Amino acid sequence: QSLGSNYWHQNRRPVQLNKDIPDNKRAKGVIVILARNSNLHGVRASLRQFEARINHRFHYPYVFLNEEPFTDEFKHYVNLLISSTAQYGLIPRQILDQHRVGPPTGHVPTWWGYPDHIDQEKAKLKREEMAALESPPPYADSESYRHMCRFQSGFFFRHPLLDGYDYYWRVEPDVDFYCDVDYDVFQLMKDKGFKYGWNIAIQEIPETIQTLWAATRRFLQRFPAYGVFDSEQSLLTWIMKFDENQIDDYNGCHFWSNFEIGSLDFFRSKPYLDFFDHLDQEGGFFYERWGDAPVHSIAAALLLKKSEIHFFNDIGYNHPPIAHCPTESYLQEKCHCDPAINIDWKDGSCAIPYKDIDPHFVWDEFTYYQE
Ligand code: GDP
Ligand code: MN
Repeated sequence: QSLGSNYWHQNRRPVQLNKDIPDNKRAKGVIVILARNSNLHGVRASLRQFEARINHRFHYPYVFLNEEPFTDEFKHYVNLLISSTAQYGLIPRQILDQHRVGPPTGHVPTWWGYPDHIDQEKAKLKREEMAALESPPPYADSESYRHMCRFQSGFFFRHPLLDGYDYYWRVEPDVDFYCDVDYDVFQLMKDKGFKYGWNIAIQEIPETIQTLWAATRRFLQRFPAYGVFDSEQSLLTWIMKFDENQIDDYNGCHFWSNFEIGSLDFFRSKPYLDFFDHLDQEGGFFYERWGDAPVHSIAAALLLKKSEIHFFNDIGYNHPPIAHCPTESYLQEKCHCDPAINIDWKDGSCAIPYKDIDPHFVWDEFTYYQE
């Protein structure tokens, strides 16, 4: 609904500044960017807007991750346009898993590379099969894309450079940030108890996740206590569909994870780690092309209450070819996108069914942070 252009001026709430938050209540947040050295200019383009629209007010620190060392050139040109500090980390191929909860599993997980149980010949054949489809999905034959998706699904949150942080904001090269954000999003996450925040929700390409739902079902058989099934609190209906015999399947809806604001502790929790381990053992990161977006989203729908998930409608964002642009006029005043490009109401978007079940679907209440 449109709230009129004076809405913002009349209803402006005091913005609590980061410096006024007492230390023991402060949310520890970090911007996390996975990138190659060749992404330098795309990263700088993203950060130019991220800084101008958001981070010049908050100076959140950055952690850059890469499976190869970042070059001095990369660091130099990034450092020139950020208003905070950056750390540049190497992703270890393998590392002893210090965040593992519970008894040792006996295996040392590879962070970026094939785990021992993967049949690499089979993985290659499966990639070739996918690439030979009549309309192959993007990255059908890419090996590195699969390592990337597995890393983002199961490992980024365990990187030692993130150890001191509770919340992360994922940023990618070549994206746009369209709107001024003048409240501390990490503080909002912490104070409201949010564990996962998103702004674009779409449907996954079925060919990339053929057996992901079956694998999730087997996980639930192993760990039935983990799921949030209470119909008042569960988000499961948003990701499920039923055939004429009432057999359930995944409907493909997922939060597009190139934008993500989330709780690191959620991903470091035993239920999530057990979920990831289970999926990793099933092999679909390599035999299919499971994306970190459907993996994170199924985990969120399964393991979190819907009150712990937040739609950042106010953070206009573009990851070509899809954009979220807030259509409310009081938000438009703070943005530079054409609301006609907004994905929310278009084919393939999962935002409309989400709005039906969203417990915080009251734009003005959550648009500005106040304490
Ligand atoms: P898309 O958004 O699904 O089209 O995939 P991208 O190519 O944007 O990759 C997603 C994220 O992972 C981006 O932040 C990339 O910079 C990063 N990325 C993808 N592949 C690699 C890789 O092989 N190495 C590194 N270091 N980063 C990668
Ligand atoms: Mn991308």
